[in-house]
Amino acid sequence: MRLRRVGVSTNEPLLFEIEHCLDKKGVDTEGVKIDKKYLRTDEPHIPELDEVSVVRHYTRLSQWNYGVDTGMYPLGSCTMKYNPKFNEYAARLNGFSSIHPYTPEDLMQGVLRIIYEMERYLSEIGGFERVTLIPSAGAHGEYTGLMMVRKYHLDKGNPRKKVLIPDTAHGTNPASCTLNGYEVVQVKSSSAGYLTKEELLKHIDEDVAALMVTNPNTLGIFEKEIAEIAEILHSKDALLYCDGANMNSLIGIAKPGDMGVDVLQYNLHKSFSTPHGGGGPGSGPVGVSRRLVDYLPVPLVEKIGNKYVLVYDKPKSVGQVKAFYGNFGIIVRAYSYIRAMGAEGLKKATEYAVLNSNYIRKRLSNYYHLPYETPSMHECVFTDKKQNEKGITTMDIAKRLIDYGFHPPTIYFPLVVHGAIMIEPTESESKDSLDRFIDAMIAIARESEENPDIVKNTPTLSPILRADEVKAAKELKLKYEKNRCL
Ligand SMILES: *Cc1c(COP(=O)(O)O)cnc(C)c1O
Repeated sequence: MRLRRVGVSTNEPLLFEIEHCLDKKGVDTEGVKIDKKYLRTDEPHIPELDEVSVVRHYTRLSQWNYGVDTGMYPLGSCTMKYNPKFNEYAARLNGFSSIHPYTPEDLMQGVLRIIYEMERYLSEIGGFERVTLIPSAGAHGEYTGLMMVRKYHLDKGNPRKKVLIPDTAHGTNPASCTLNGYEVVQVKSSSAGYLTKEELLKHIDEDVAALMVTNPNTLGIFEKEIAEIAEILHSKDALLYCDGANMNSLIGIAKPGDMGVDVLQYNLHKSFSTPHGGGGPGSGPVGVSRRLVDYLPVPLVEKIGNKYVLVYDKPKSVGQVKAFYGNFGIIVRAYSYIRAMGAEGLKKATEYAVLNSNYIRKRLSNYYHLPYETPSMHECVFTDKKQNEKGITTMDIAKRLIDYGFHPPTIYFPLVVHGAIMIEPTESESKDSLDRFIDAMIAIARESEENPDIVKNTPTLSPILRADEVKAAKELKLKYEKNRCL
C-alpha cells in the first residue's frame, strides 16, 4: 500500500467486510448452573458492529461526495448549479409530498393549480402555445416531442422518414429519433460552430420530418440563423425541434417560440433548480407551437370557471406518456424557483450564466486553445492542443483538477471537438470561486509546460487514482479489495 500524502485512508470497505468486533457468542456458560432448557440454542440477534464503526463508516462515505453543495461543478451541458434550499422546503410541504395520484380533483385543487400555472409560466418563458409537464426527463421530453412530430405528419398522410441533426448534438437526440422510427441524418456545423442555412438546404426534402437542433448548441454557441432555418423547414412543412436543455442561457432574454421553434423540451432539473446527477428524478416539460397543440399528451389541466380539471378527452393526442401527471415534486421546486426569482431575477440569472462563462473563456484563452472564435453563451469549449505539445491530454488536465479540489469539466464532448474541455460555470458561482477555478486551470497549464510528468501522474490525492476506465466499465467490480493499492 502506498502512503498517501494526507495520511488518512479514505478507501472504505462494505459494512459486511468491516471486522466484526462484537462477540456474538456472549458469556461462556461452561460450569454455570442453569437448567439446559433455559439456554438458547441459536445466536442472539444483536448487532455485529458497534455504534462507532457504523457511524464512522457512513460519515466517511458522506465525506467522499462531491456536489454543488461542496464546490463548483463545472460540467458543460449539465448545468450543475446550486439549488436554493427553499425550493426543497416547498416540495416537501405535506400537502404536496403526501398527495395520492388518485385523489379526487376536488381535493387537489391546489396541486392542479400549480400544474396549470407552471404551464403558463413555461409557455411565456419559451414563447409557446401550450406545454405538457408530464415527461420525466430531457430525453423523455425529446421522445414525447418527436411522437407529436410523427403524429402531425401522419395526420397529413405520411410520417416522413428522416430527422436532420447537427454534428454538435447531445447523444439523446439521435436516440429519441431512432426510437420514434426516424432515420437520423447528420448535418455539419460551420467552422464558426453553428448551422448555416446553406448546409440545411443541401439536406432538406419532402422526406424530412424535422430538424432537431440545440440552441445554444453544445459548443455553447448561439444558432444565429435559426429564424431563417425555421422558415426553410416550414416551407417544406417540416418542423423545428429545439433541444431546450440549454434554456438557462435564454430565459428572460429570448423565446425559442419567437424563433420559429415548434417543439422544445425544458430540463427543469437543469435550468429550474432541481439537484440532478446520479439518476435522480427529473422533469422534461415540452412546449409546442400552434401546429402541435392538438397532439399534446394527456391529461392536460384546464381551468373551467374557478375549478381546475384534468382533461383526457383529446382525440388527436399522442396519449399518455407516463402514469399520472409528471414528477410533481420537481414541478413544485421549479414553480417555487420561478416565483421566488420573478421575471427580473430569471433574466439576471441568465445574464450571469453567460457572463460567468465568458469570463472563464477570456481569462483562460491565453493558456488553452479555443477551437471556435465565436463568443460563447453559458458554456465554453477549450481543447488540449497547446498541452499536447508536451504529451499532456485532456484526460490528464481533468485528473489534475481533482488534486486542486475541483470536479473536472465535461471532457471529450462535443464529439466534433478533438480533446474537448467543456466548462459551464452557471450563474450560481461567485467571481471568487470562478477565479479559484481559473487559477487551478492556469497552474495546470504551467505545470504542463514546466513539469509535464506531474500532470501525467495524477490525481495523487483522491481515494482512487487513475482508473483504467475501459476495464472498469467492462469488468465492473463493486467489491472492496483489502489489499487494493491506494
Ligand atoms: C442533459 C441533456 C439532455 C438529456 O436530458 P436528460 O434529462 O438527462 O434526459 C439532452 N440534451 C442536452 C443538450 C442535454 O444537455
